[in-house]
Amino acid sequence: MNKLNFNNRFVTELPGDETGMQQSRQTQGVCWAAVSPTPVQRPNLLAYSSDVLRILNLSDDDANSDDFLAAFCGNRLLPGMTAYASCYGGHQFGNWAGQLGDGRAIALGEVLNNEGERWELQLKGAGMTPYSRRADGRAVLRSSLREFLCSEAMHHLGIPGTRALSLIATGENVMRDMLYDGNPALEPGAVVCRVAPSFTRFGHFEILAARGEYALLQRLIDFTIDRDFPQIDRQSPDYFASWFKLVCERTARLVVEWLRVGFVHGVMNTDNMSIIGLTLDYGPYGWVDNFDPGWTPNTTDEEWRRYSLAQQPPVARWNLERLADALATVATSRSMLNEGLVHFDVTLQTGLSTMLAGKFGLLEWQEEDAALTESIFELMQRAEVDMTEFFRALANVSQQAPELGILRSAFYREPLYQSHSALFYAWLERYAARLAQQQDTDEARRIRMNLVNPRFILRNYLAQQAIDAATNGDMSLIHALMEAARHPYDDDISAALTAKRPDWAINKPGCSMLSCSS
Ligand code: AMP
Ligand code: MG
Repeated sequence: MNKLNFNNRFVTELPGDETGMQQSRQTQGVCWAAVSPTPVQRPNLLAYSSDVLRILNLSDDDANSDDFLAAFCGNRLLPGMTAYASCYGGHQFGNWAGQLGDGRAIALGEVLNNEGERWELQLKGAGMTPYSRRADGRAVLRSSLREFLCSEAMHHLGIPGTRALSLIATGENVMRDMLYDGNPALEPGAVVCRVAPSFTRFGHFEILAARGEYALLQRLIDFTIDRDFPQIDRQSPDYFASWFKLVCERTARLVVEWLRVGFVHGVMNTDNMSIIGLTLDYGPYGWVDNFDPGWTPNTTDEEWRRYSLAQQPPVARWNLERLADALATVATSRSMLNEGLVHFDVTLQTGLSTMLAGKFGLLEWQEEDAALTESIFELMQRAEVDMTEFFRALANVSQQAPELGILRSAFYREPLYQSHSALFYAWLERYAARLAQQQDTDEARRIRMNLVNPRFILRNYLAQQAIDAATNGDMSLIHALMEAARHPYDDDISAALTAKRPDWAINKPGCSMLSCSS
C-alpha cells in the first residue's frame, strides 16, 4: 500500500481552510477545507474492483490487507494522503442553492500511477465535513452499492464516469427516511472509495463567482486547465475560449452516451456536473426499461420531470449556461462563452445522429433517417417496448426478409404486441428498404450494432436484488453483476442478468422509482 505515490495538487496549489474544524459553516475565500474522516467501528470489505486496483498499481493482496481496509473506510490515513472536503455551490432543480460542498465526500489525495496518470481518491460516506449542513456525512449500503456497481458498469459500456475502488460496510447503522414518508429507519452504512482524474464540478466555479471571489475563480480556472486539460495551451491568447468549448463538447458527448444506453442520471444539478465530462454522483439514477422519453427514476422529480431521459440534453445546456454565467465574471468577453454553447449544440446534433446511425446499423446518417428513427421510438413508447432488448433484437433483422417475430421478446405486454404488430411490421419494411440502400451484409451490420447496443445494463431491479442479497450477507449477485458489467456487449451473458424488468418490480421501491435519500 505504500506503493501509492501521492502528489496532491488540489490542496497544494489552491487555498484551503486548514483549521480542521468539522462544524458546518460557509468557507469563504478557499477551495477546500481540511477534515478528518470519522472512524467506523467494524469495517468489512464487501467488494473491490480489480480493474481499478490495477489502475492504481495495487494487487489483490493489497486489497485484502489491513492497510487497505483501514484507509478506505476512513480509519487511517496512509503516508502521503491529505484529507479534505472541497467547496462548491450549485443550481439545484433550476434554483441557485448557494454553498453545498463535499458534505460526505472526503478526498484523500491524488495518486500518480506508473503510467503517469493522475487519479484522485475520494471516500463517500466517511463522516461530517464543514459542508454537511444538518446531515450526517454518512451513506447507506444500498446507495453505496448502487454507486459502486454503476461506476464500473458505465466504464465498461465505454461511458466516461468516476470509477469505484472499494465498497466497505462500516458496521454502523445510519438513520434514513427512505421513502420520505415520515418513517425513518436504521440501515447499514457503507463507504465507497471513488477514483477519478478530477472531481471538480461546475459548482466549484459557480460558488466563487457568486461570492465575488474573482481572483480565486481565475486561479481555479488556471489550475483546472493546467492539471486536467493538458491539451489546452495556456500561453495561447484564446485558451479560455478553447477550454470552455472543450467543456461544452465533453458535456454534449456525455449526454449522447447516456441516451445511447438509456441511462438517466436523475439529479443533473450543476453541483453534479463534472468539469471534465464524467458521469458523477450516482444517486437516484436509473436505466429505462420500456422506452419512455419522459421517464425519470427520481421520485423528487416525479412532478416536473426536469431530469427525465429526453430532458438530459437541454438540461446539460442549461447547466453549461449557468457555468458560462459564472465564468463570464472573469472572461474578457461573453461572446467567447456563447461560442462554446453553440459548439455544444453542434456537437450534440452530430453526436446524436452518429449515435443513432450506430444503434440502427446505418453506415451513414441521412437526413431522412431522423423521421425513420423517430417513428420507431414513438412506437416503442406507445407499445411499451424494452429499449435494450429491442436494439439487440433489431440487429438480427434480415434485410431481405424482415420478420416481426424477432422483436417479440422486446415487448412487455402481449396485447400491445398484437395491437401494434402491423405498425411495427410496416416500420420494419421501411427499415429494411433503408438498409438495402447501403453496401453491407446482415452479418456485418449485426456485429456493428452489437458493439454499440449493450446486452447487459445494470437494470434497476437487478441492482435492488443485489442490495437485498448483500443486506443478508450474500455477495454473490454483486460479483455476478460486476462480471457481467465487464462485458456488456457480449451475447453470452446469463439470461437471469439480461432479463427485462419483471412485473413485480414495476412499483417496488428501488426498482422503478428511487428517492434521493441515500
Ligand atoms: P447529492 O444530492 O447527493 O448530490 O448532494 C447534494 C449536497 O448534499 C452535497 O453538498 C452533498 O455533499 C450533501 N449531502 C447529501 N447527503 C449528505 C449526507 N448524508 N451528509 C452530509 N451531506 C450530504
Ligand atoms: Mg452531489
